[in-house]
Amino acid sequence: MRTSVIAANWKMNNLYEETVRFFKEFGDTAVNVDGKEAIIAPAFPYLRTACELSKGKNIIIAAQDVYPAEKGAFTGMVGSEMLKDCGVGAVIVGHSERRHIFGESFELIRKKVTFVQNNDWKLIFCIGETLQERESGQLYEVIKEQIYTAFDENLWCDPDKVVIAYEPVWAIGTGVVATPEQAQEMHAFIRKIMGKRYDRENIPILYGGSVKPDNIKGLMDCEDIDGALVGGASLEADSYKKLFMYDR
Ligand code: PEP
Repeated sequence: MRTSVIAANWKMNNLYEETVRFFKEFGDTAVNVDGKEAIIAPAFPYLRTACELSKGKNIIIAAQDVYPAEKGAFTGMVGSEMLKDCGVGAVIVGHSERRHIFGESFELIRKKVTFVQNNDWKLIFCIGETLQERESGQLYEVIKEQIYTAFDENLWCDPDKVVIAYEPVWAIGTGVVATPEQAQEMHAFIRKIMGKRYDRENIPILYGGSVKPDNIKGLMDCEDIDGALVGGASLEADSYKKLFMYDR
């Protein structure tokens, strides 16, 4: 049985008060839930608060990014020493906003992937195609390239420490969610690659892109979808609670 993961990516949202309120309202929801993992990724300034407020609550706090160095002269960046000092347990790498808005290259993404694994954090590795790539029939090649350039053939990591999030770029923050059929097709494809090339068929594969409490069930009912990476609908505890507690 693969672990189900409901991960919240708050991006550049939720200030201190909202962060405190979220953890107060979410409370002990995850404490006695087996087989499901709650991951929350606040912005850097609130990581420490989130780590403190989530202690003993069975919640993993994730950073939305990391610069692949321990510390030093890297203005504006946050490296491993600071993330460890805050107490994070996971890091998101390869999000489409980092690839497309900040122009992250395959090379930098690969360095971050290796860095996260060498630091023994859980890796939440995001991949996904643009609408133009889908419509021009490049879909499978794009996904393969994103995976192959990030991992070498001897994937060294603990299988419990890697989660892949398939997030079609056209579905992120647009309100246009992939149909369960479209998502399942891609998840099955990704799982095949992870099995054949890396011997990691059982890693959790999450769907991301306009997931909401009222559409999560249809997606989670699909055989190869193990959870969700959620942006907008994860900002408030009430909505995140509904996502986390969805009934499969
Ligand atoms: C995301 O940022 O990873 C995401 C899926 O956002 P949203 O749920 O808002 O589409």
